Amino acid sequence: MMKRTEKKQQTRENILKAAVSLFREKGFDDTTVQEITEAADIAKGTFFNYFPTKESIMEALAEDRLHQVDDYLHTYGLNRVTFISKLRAHISFFLGEYHFNPALTRRVWQRVIEQQSLLLETWHELLEVGIKRKEIKADTDAGLWANVINSHFYYTLAVCEAETRETFLDELMLLLHTSLKEILTKRGDRAMKKMVIVGGGYGGMRILQRLLPNDLPDDIELVLVDKLPYHCFKTEYYALAAGTESDHEVRVPFPQHERLSLHFGTVDAIDRENRQIIMKGEEPVSYDILVIGLGCEDKYHGVPGAEENTYSIQSMENTRRTYEALNNLPAQSIVSIVGAGLSGVEVASELRESRSDLHIKLFDRGETILPMFPKRLSNYVQNWFEKHEVDVISNSNITKVEKSGLYNHDEFIKSDAIIWTAGIQPNKVVRDLDVEKDEKGRVVLTPHHHLPDDEHTFVVGDCASLPHAPSAQLAEGQADQIATVLKKRWNNETLPEELPKIKLKGVLGSLGKKHGFGVMGDTALTGRVARLLKSGVLWMYKHHSGV
Ligand SMILES: Cc1cc2nc3c(=O)[nH]c(=O)nc-3n(C[C@H](O)[C@H](O)[C@H](O)COP(=O)(O)OP(=O)(O)OC[C@H]3O[C@@H](n4cnc5c(N)ncnc54)[C@H](O)[C@@H]3O)c2cc1C
Repeated sequence: MMKRTEKKQQTRENILKAAVSLFREKGFDDTTVQEITEAADIAKGTFFNYFPTKESIMEALAEDRLHQVDDYLHTYGLNRVTFISKLRAHISFFLGEYHFNPALTRRVWQRVIEQQSLLLETWHELLEVGIKRKEIKADTDAGLWANVINSHFYYTLAVCEAETRETFLDELMLLLHTSLKEILTKRGDRAMKKMVIVGGGYGGMRILQRLLPNDLPDDIELVLVDKLPYHCFKTEYYALAAGTESDHEVRVPFPQHERLSLHFGTVDAIDRENRQIIMKGEEPVSYDILVIGLGCEDKYHGVPGAEENTYSIQSMENTRRTYEALNNLPAQSIVSIVGAGLSGVEVASELRESRSDLHIKLFDRGETILPMFPKRLSNYVQNWFEKHEVDVISNSNITKVEKSGLYNHDEFIKSDAIIWTAGIQPNKVVRDLDVEKDEKGRVVLTPHHHLPDDEHTFVVGDCASLPHAPSAQLAEGQADQIATVLKKRWNNETLPEELPKIKLKGVLGSLGKKHGFGVMGDTALTGRVARLLKSGVLWMYKHHSGV
């Protein structure tokens, strides 16, 4: 049985958790104590046994942060960074609730400074470590300078009215840096630069792999931002949708490394002027160097009803929905797949193997399927579909989609589920960026893969304008080059004006689990060999991703 003290602790934590989640969702001012008690599943009276006011929750959160800072630094590998960067990391962590209510957070931390010796002890310890690591002059009086840091912090809390934590930190660090210069050696003076990769797909992940463990300079802090807490194999989404692979088989954890901080949240926008990534429901993330690798989304070409009435395989979340819909269909249902490119072909054939009872229709705009491949290969795929009773409808033009079916030209085709694989476009965050784009909406870059007017912002993968069709292979090849550009810059080496052409090995597609097709170099492959090669490529990829 839970002891009384443990139970009290648990209730306190439940209240804090419920409060934080509501503050995040509704804002501090619009959250009532009643809502917190309901969410925490406790009586109103119980709340007041723990917290006299709603404001006192912020004090409790501040106090918790004071005790958790060491764990935070350890988890995010920030113990190795320079004195100045560590100082910033401490204050940034302490002010984690700043966005809930900036003025209240500042008041709370003033009170913490007035009442808590722990903060002074923290600065003292930080200074001592700095002295030991020769980042701070040996004869520095750590006690005195701990008080200097405290008083600068207090002063900024009292006078600065910054709207965001980042602006507050910038002001405070400027003040601190001016004073601390007196005791810093060259080593401790180096402020860390923050390199942020948004999107841990094929491109983002490859850059991480190329920079870690040994190629990241000591003064660069690496942060990966992704909405999902794992790296996903998008090339296998067709199998997840068809129900032939489980969720667990198409994802791997991101690498764990002391130089890498993982930040899980959804990017809403990129504020280039203030060099910040605007996140959904949380504080912005600032950057000095940025890599954008957010992948692509479906493009509906203005077909009415397509977005609302079709299933997608372009994101993990959407593919899970598609899986659920397809696998819950009653026997003899009709599934229409719009678009017979590589992903449409793969999903149609995989679904055929998964559900022999369904009627599958594959709508293709062209005269023949997969026209970009050699004729022999497209005939092979066409024959496979005929043999396995998938209707390929050529020369189609989907003009409208409704819940119960779609219109091919003017003909209504009843469908119980419709999957859209008829076009892609860059992620909305990139579409909203005010930068030059090509006719497909992909960002135009210099030969070194950065924005023409910002050599510290790179774009990788499906969002980048490159002279090939988007693919995982291309994203990885480009990521390799971005890593090279960065490493050469950091080592003060000159870069060639043009980088070598990105070499692509070929394309492999699957027709269920036993057959495949593809082109490797000049060789067209069909049948079991092509399928085995495709499985081998996936195996290698998983292997290199640490599985
Ligand atoms: C069914 C299918 C089969 C394919 N088969 C092949 C193949 O055989 N060979 C091949 O080379 N290519 C294939 N592709 C194409 C390939 O998957 C993409 O070209 C590749 O994934 C692009 O890599 P990327 O790094 O640009 O983006 P992605 O791999 O898509 O990664 C984007 C990342 O950004 C994250 N993200 C997106 N939006 C946000 C946001 N707002 N906030 C935070 N994070 C966000 C995502 O979670 C994801 O981790 C296939 C695609 C599909 C759909």
